[in-house]
Amino acid sequence: MKPVQQSSVAVIGVGTMGSQLLHRLAADGIAVTGFEQFDIGHQRGAAGGETRIFRVAYKEGGDYVPLLREARTAWQELSARAGVPLLEPCGAMTIGSAEDPDVRTVADVTERWGLDVERLDHREAARRFPQHRLFPDDVVLLDRQGGLLHPQRAIVETTLLAEKAGARLHTGAIVEDVTDDGNGVAVHFRRGEEVQVEKFDQAVVCTGPWITRSVPVLARDIEIRRAVLCWFETAENWGPERFPVGIRRSGGENTFSFFPDVGGGVKINLHVPKSIVDDPDVLDPVVAPDYVARVSAAVSRCLPGLPSRPAEVRTFMEGYTADNHGVIGRDPDRPNVLVMGGFSGHGFKLAPVFARAAAELLRTGRTDVPIDHLSLSRLR
Ligand SMILES: Cc1cc2nc3c(=O)[nH]c(=O)nc-3n(C[C@H](O)[C@H](O)[C@H](O)COP(=O)(O)OP(=O)(O)OC[C@H]3O[C@@H](n4cnc5c(N)ncnc54)[C@H](O)[C@@H]3O)c2cc1C
Repeated sequence: MKPVQQSSVAVIGVGTMGSQLLHRLAADGIAVTGFEQFDIGHQRGAAGGETRIFRVAYKEGGDYVPLLREARTAWQELSARAGVPLLEPCGAMTIGSAEDPDVRTVADVTERWGLDVERLDHREAARRFPQHRLFPDDVVLLDRQGGLLHPQRAIVETTLLAEKAGARLHTGAIVEDVTDDGNGVAVHFRRGEEVQVEKFDQAVVCTGPWITRSVPVLARDIEIRRAVLCWFETAENWGPERFPVGIRRSGGENTFSFFPDVGGGVKINLHVPKSIVDDPDVLDPVVAPDYVARVSAAVSRCLPGLPSRPAEVRTFMEGYTADNHGVIGRDPDRPNVLVMGGFSGHGFKLAPVFARAAAELLRTGRTDVPIDHLSLSRLR
């Protein structure tokens, strides 16, 4: 691997990770070019679907807390620079049985790190968040450092900031190959019928649900899965200031993430096994009626003020690893290529800090961001 001084980097895929990396590298004075197959801020990748949760009391484990704290500051700084809120600090709830492993982890992480998490008794929870019907053994936790991210806005605004800092951008550019001769890389990309090649010192491949196509060797480590999101129409009291984002773990199928109405209705993501996507170019938009019925039943039990059926149902996709942690590291076959992928349904919030890690790896081959648990070798 050749360390970057003032040399050049190609970022393949300008979505969640790519936009952050483009911005980070350009701000650091690196000559960086982004390649995006669609337009910036499109809905077809892993970032589609209007909103994302930001949490610090992390059910995925306390090792993430330093990364999440840094990411929160980064989102606030990016919001200030962009002049629009990318992160809305509405808080993030965890509601569920004290025996549930995720609820227990959130409580443990809170205690271990002394996090700003409020534990509400049922009377107080009912007064402040009457939308939730609580079950007798539900614990209610409010992570006051949590909030709501606007993914499309974040990708568009961060890319604009990157361009202002000097990044080059090719949109509508499908990268077909990145070859590495040991001294540098050649990016082969197609626009319509025309195939072009540009050369760089290094490349980062962060193509989200297309990662196993871009880096076939990752097909044994990352599985692309389909997620179904449902939007329920609301009247009032369901905006971020009254109904924070959160995760419900109240047993059985009452396990889902919930998102306030920011225009399209309250969004629900039921946490059940997801189907495999064979080809990310042809994501199946058809959702079986019995799946919609399961989501509706969970909503009726837990959020009885919502309508009995969703107004909109849409499908999205994401790469998952076996242990649900992403991958950041060198391509085993191409020394000048870094790969970032498989963020397993929780990568958006961490993108600014993952981008800092990647930028440091490009520059020096090392990073002080604690990402050992994201190494490719751990999966093999
Ligand atoms: C339904 C759903 C809900 C989620 N909820 C949350 C949440 O609440 N909180 C959270 O933190 N995370 C959440 N996540 C996870 C998070 O959104 C993802 O981890 C993150 O968006 C992944 O970013 P990425 O850069 O890998 O992929 P993407 O954002 O999809 O970016 C990849 C980009 O690469 C481009 N590309 C692909 N192939 C090529 C090519 N050959 N040439 C050029 N460009 C190419 C794509 O068009 C795309 O723009 C959720 C994910 C899903 C699917």
